[in-house]
Amino acid sequence: MVEERVARTIRSWIESSKRVAVITHTNPDGDAIGSSLALALALVKTGKEAHVVIPDGLPDFLRWLPGIERSVTFAYKREKAVELIENADLIFCLDFNDPKRINGVDEYLQKSTAKKVLIDHHQNPAKFTDIAISETWRGSVGEMIYLFLKAVFEGDIMDKDIATCLYVGIMTDTGNFSYGSSYSEIFHIVGDLLKYNIEKDRIFSNVYDAFTVDRLRLQGYCMQEKLVVLPQYHTAYISLTEEELKHHKHRKGDTEGFVNIPFSIKGIKFTALFIEKRDRIKISFRSRGRFPVNLVASEHYSGGGHINAAGGDSFTSLEETLAGFESLLPEYAKLLNDE
Ligand code: 5GP
Ligand code: MN
Repeated sequence: MVEERVARTIRSWIESSKRVAVITHTNPDGDAIGSSLALALALVKTGKEAHVVIPDGLPDFLRWLPGIERSVTFAYKREKAVELIENADLIFCLDFNDPKRINGVDEYLQKSTAKKVLIDHHQNPAKFTDIAISETWRGSVGEMIYLFLKAVFEGDIMDKDIATCLYVGIMTDTGNFSYGSSYSEIFHIVGDLLKYNIEKDRIFSNVYDAFTVDRLRLQGYCMQEKLVVLPQYHTAYISLTEEELKHHKHRKGDTEGFVNIPFSIKGIKFTALFIEKRDRIKISFRSRGRFPVNLVASEHYSGGGHINAAGGDSFTSLEETLAGFESLLPEYAKLLNDE
């Protein structure tokens, strides 16, 4: 994954740096946090002062991760986060392809004179770092960091904590190996992580069995009251207003995964989740097969992502957004029916 020439350059940058910041994307998921912590932990092992900067909040289901105390959230601890970026002599950007994805942190990233390295798997990365390691076909950045550690660090830097963080990234970003993982290398990597005695089943449980009863009831409410199925377009979507979220004592991360549930209906290939925020509607898209949801996100919702998982924003009311979404479907009918 990492060319020797690139590995050598980054190795020398690490050697000559004291403080390293790892920045990941807004609304971080298991891959964003898992891969960032893994890299930070490896850097700490080699004597660096390394921290992870998260633009906004950390979901509860990731708080148990080893190394989490090395993370600082810009939205809550702005001064500390800015200080970490300003004082860093090397910055890694993980799991995002555009500075727009790090809400507010981009200003400080751009100002920084540190060497910058991007490690990412999203399509069409913007040019904002000195080196970009971009492999869009990889299922997760966790996998990329595994290979990066092998290529760049001397000896075997891996340990149980680092392997646990990487496994969380790989497991979550492949939907538990249900997509983005149909190649043997990924299973060789997981096989190797298991050698470090990671507790695979406990990790699964820590991530997926960590919600409140309110969250489960919110899920039930979504399926009972809010699910819209459009069989002629193989599409299903769910929307939630701010009021509905409040009523269910919503916490960050609670709606994570809801967008995947409608795939259990036979014939559904395209799903969407619309969440009303104070200033916009945040949209998640997912697909099965070859239907490119990143195209829908970039063409209509100033967003992007991967073929099977993407997102974007709408700045009209929820009602208008949903009507607009339904009116787009005829445009994609051929693609949705082709598969
Ligand atoms: P999620 O639906 O879990 O928020 O996001 C799924 C994927 O879509 C993310 O990993 C990211 O690649 C992409 N994504 C989500 N929201 C946005 C957005 O607003 N802009 C862009 N460019 N990508 C997004
Ligand atoms: Mn990812």
